[in-house]
Amino acid sequence: MSLQVRNSTGGGFVLLQDTQLIETLAHFARERIPERVVHAKAVGAFGEFEVTHDISDLTSAKFLKGVGKKTPVLLRVSTVGPESGSADTARDVRGWAMKLFTKDGNQDFVFNDIPVFFIRDPIKFPSVNRSHKRHPRTHLPDSTMEGIHALMHLFSDRGTPVSIRNLNAYSGHTYKFTKPDGSFKYVKIHIKSDQGVKSHTASEATKLAGENPNSHTEDLFNAIENGDYPTWTLYVQVMDPKDAETYRWNIFDVTKIWPHADYPLRPFGKLTLNKNPTNYFTDVECVAFSPSTMVSGIGPTADPMLQARMFSYPDAARYRLGTNYQQLPVNTPLSHVYSPFQRGGFASVKGSYSSDPNYVHSTFKPLKAGPKQAAFEHEIWTKARVEEYTSEVTDEDFVQARWFWDVLGKEEGQQEHFIRIWPLRSLY
Ligand code: NDP
Repeated sequence: MSLQVRNSTGGGFVLLQDTQLIETLAHFARERIPERVVHAKAVGAFGEFEVTHDISDLTSAKFLKGVGKKTPVLLRVSTVGPESGSADTARDVRGWAMKLFTKDGNQDFVFNDIPVFFIRDPIKFPSVNRSHKRHPRTHLPDSTMEGIHALMHLFSDRGTPVSIRNLNAYSGHTYKFTKPDGSFKYVKIHIKSDQGVKSHTASEATKLAGENPNSHTEDLFNAIENGDYPTWTLYVQVMDPKDAETYRWNIFDVTKIWPHADYPLRPFGKLTLNKNPTNYFTDVECVAFSPSTMVSGIGPTADPMLQARMFSYPDAARYRLGTNYQQLPVNTPLSHVYSPFQRGGFASVKGSYSSDPNYVHSTFKPLKAGPKQAAFEHEIWTKARVEEYTSEVTDEDFVQARWFWDVLGKEEGQQEHFIRIWPLRSLY
């Protein structure tokens, strides 16, 4: 009796020599990458940012210089706590992650759709995120959160937006707009929907979560596919460093806004989304954002939450996508990047700088010095302001929350909706 052996295309026994089958099975078992620990469910689209008003008096950032200048953009908007298969209408903060592919390198705006955050002390950052997620014992969403001002935003109707096209985004943190001479302004950025802010009531959002859990994904995809391109207007609030020294609010406290009456919004740009991703995995799942990804002319402040996020986001990307995540096509800047001291390692796909030296301060291509430091007196003030920082809740934390209660009172039904939802304290 003879034994017939064929490969997977020809029937017969399956043997270890059937490498096509083995490769196919092995790839299937490995084709998922770790889900983002937060911000897993997302919608993404490409578009462009256009400068509409001159703000060259504030910053030397080249992509902001010249009315009419356009920069390609990728936007990823996500819920925070729920997993990637969850409903788009879940009550949650929406993360607004935007990558601007400027000629000077990538600029990320990693914002939220509410203007304040729950906490100001970064040691609580993992806990506040876990408090949105499942309890280790019950595997049910838990909700023991803090941060009254942000919680009020979350439990207002804006916690359940109608679509991505109908929400605003805010930098939350104070950033710096800088000049090469070392001078700077403190800024907060606001991105306002030109479609208007529209929200579901809690019951509408709950119903839709069952009927169409992908309603936001579908809405944005169809709008762009039909040529109905959504747009947003970008504004900046500007504070002189001298003013910061006497301002009522600690400008490094991300649980506080700057009232519009104190620091009016100055328009500077327009965002248009006009192209859907061709492949969700490569365009949206593989993208990595970080508040530390900045071009010259924009800088961080001493806000401890911002400083912590500047470490945490690239660290999460290294875990999720590997040490060479910046070489993935969607993360690659348009401009030429020369960093020969960052090469090799797993999945280094972009060559390895040939025979260039792999250490810094090579005379072959010396590093450029950064901009000059800020005025010394202001640095002393900054240090004092950060040292007085407390994660304890004080009476001051209720002042802006109270203002927000009055804002809700200006629109019919908003305070009533809030009171009805608040005792439930269940997010999704
Ligand atoms: P104003 O009294 O000048 O204006 C209130 C702002 O609140 C509006 O401009 C709007 O901002 C936003 N808003 C209006 N209706 C609602 C709503 N139903 N749900 C959520 N937000 C709404 O604001 P102040 O600057 O004096 O701040 C008062 C309170 O308003 C703050 O405590 C804060 O909670 C809230 N707020 C303030 C913002 C700021 O950066 N100053 C931004 C958003 C809210 P927008 O046009 O951005 O939607």
